[in-house]
Amino acid sequence: MAGYLGNKFDMIVHHLAVMKPKCKIYDIKKQDSVYFVPDILDQARKEGFVPCKYCVKNEVSITPRDLAEAADVTEVTIRNRYKGLKLSQQMNHTIL
Ligand SMILES: [Zn+2]
Repeated sequence: MAGYLGNKFDMIVHHLAVMKPKCKIYDIKKQDSVYFVPDILDQARKEGFVPCKYCVKNEVSITPRDLAEAADVTEVTIRNRYKGLKLSQQMNHTIL
């Protein structure tokens, strides 16, 4: 069964489809378990759960800052570059 499993004990939510041994999902007590089925991680977040760093990592939405850190440039550079790309796309449409 896919979906997310929240642990009310440590307030961490795991993705069951990609869970890792480090998640220790089998240590989560029944009374601490909250299921979010199917893919409603947002609901878990609203209820105060933190995505697990082992299994939900890849699904956390990427912010311009994350991109900037990865690419070793500033957030502003990315924003400007993005604006530039959008502009050039609009220009292409106008030409075509
Ligand atoms: Zn996990």
